[in-house]
Amino acid sequence: MKKDRGFATKSIHTGQEPDPLTGAVTVPIYATSTYVQEEIGKHKGYEYARVSNPTRTRLEQNLAALEGGSSSHVFASGMAAINAMCTMLKAGDHLICSHNVYGGVPRLFDQILSNYGLEFTYVDTSEIGAVDRAIKRNTKIAYVETPTNPLMTLSDIAAISRICRRRGVELVVDNTFLSPYFQQPIRLGADMVIHSTTKFLNGHSDGLGGVVVCTKAEQAEKLAFIQKSAGAILSPFECWLVLRGVKTLSVRMQQHDRNGRAVAAFLNKHKKVKKVYYPGLPDHPQHQLAKQQMTGFGSMITFETGSLKNANKMLRKLRVCTLGESLGGVETLISHPATMTHAALGEKGRKAIGITDGMVRISVGIEDVEDLFEDLDQGLAAI
Ligand SMILES: *Cc1c(COP(=O)(O)O)cnc(C)c1O
Repeated sequence: MKKDRGFATKSIHTGQEPDPLTGAVTVPIYATSTYVQEEIGKHKGYEYARVSNPTRTRLEQNLAALEGGSSSHVFASGMAAINAMCTMLKAGDHLICSHNVYGGVPRLFDQILSNYGLEFTYVDTSEIGAVDRAIKRNTKIAYVETPTNPLMTLSDIAAISRICRRRGVELVVDNTFLSPYFQQPIRLGADMVIHSTTKFLNGHSDGLGGVVVCTKAEQAEKLAFIQKSAGAILSPFECWLVLRGVKTLSVRMQQHDRNGRAVAAFLNKHKKVKKVYYPGLPDHPQHQLAKQQMTGFGSMITFETGSLKNANKMLRKLRVCTLGESLGGVETLISHPATMTHAALGEKGRKAIGITDGMVRISVGIEDVEDLFEDLDQGLAAI
């Protein structure tokens, strides 16, 4: 058997083969809503663009290969992908979710999907026993985000997958924070992987998108049916942006990781910073697990400034780091979880999982790291 190609080679070539029609080296954007049929029922495999589009097909092949899945299905946003995954469930089914996940996830679960008879339980999935205890007769899915947003807590994917397998539950992992370059949940036993492609996979902060990567034919069939029936698919142009972005995923992630480690060390030494949350720091409570299940620590860092006032004083001063929601772009993005990504949780909800008003989350970009040090230093001086 032919040896599996390396990650960077796959990101550049899988699904990204030259166009058979013209030889175009770059996958074309097929801007079409429909396809000609030679006679009734005779076509080239494409009938209508909600069902399938060649640009989308190429991206789906690429992302399936990068995550080591059997197929992947792209949607209009990360939330649309998560929503599509949930519509594989039926009324009466139960889903276990990490208690500290992307803020939009509990909003979707509790304010929309719970109206359709789906049941949700939030547990601290960093504690393996909590997952085991939360499984009920109607539990179908365990949904885990690792590292979590913004507390950078890890869940042991391999250990949770063993419990899930034993109890007939599928494990879904949101791998957005690390990308398949640094973490491969399917290799560790996950049944499906989710990404907001908006983040590292696209990497240039210029388009929304989401993907569900799966491992079984029946999942693929259901997801393709959901794409066709519910229609929240990714447009050919956005697919093309991700195809382009993903070609440089390896080099971007390497630089994100180098800068991430350096900025975490810088913040950790800084007098004005009270605490740093980054799995690459030896004093992170799950540093060993990070080294075990991740091949890099990435560039997501959260740190404590002490108060909302301090956070604001600092954020107003920044000139290189961009204040805004989102993450995973080449530019350093900095955000305030309590008022931005996790505002929907409410004060009580945030307190319950340990998100404070003084927390600042940084998605370290790939700029010259000295410029980031200087910018953060002058920002922190305002505290
Ligand atoms: C951004 C994000 C999402 C949601 O993705 P959108 O593309 O914004 O809809 C889900 N999970 C994580 C971890 C995210 O960072």
